Amino acid sequence: MPVTLENRIRQMQVFNLEHDAYCASSECACSDITATVVEQNPRTGERAPRHVTKKAPASMTLLALERREGLRESIVSVPEVRAAIERGLVRVVEQTPPLAARRPVRTGKEE
Ligand SMILES: [Zn+2]
Repeated sequence: MPVTLENRIRQMQVFNLEHDAYCASSECACSDITATVVEQNPRTGERAPRHVTKKAPASMTLLALERREGLRESIVSVPEVRAAIERGLVRVVEQTPPLAARRPVRTGKEE
């Protein structure tokens, strides 16, 4: 179910959507960035450029008091977002699912 987040302060907030938390349950939202590093061969002293691909996490910007709908559910498990929610900087807007779609609440392990 998509999540709606609301920025509760009159300041823009930017969150890094850490791959481990944000991409875990869905497709990867990170972007590839190519960096060029120069490597020196320890034996010959020769220098050669090498391209390395790194993953850059996606980011989300919430403008002052902005309400953003349709976010992935995993957004609330991103550490930076969770911290902002705990500090009251961001609010998760309640979305009441239709009754039929509600799953029964499970308590602990069923063995
Ligand atoms: Zn990712």
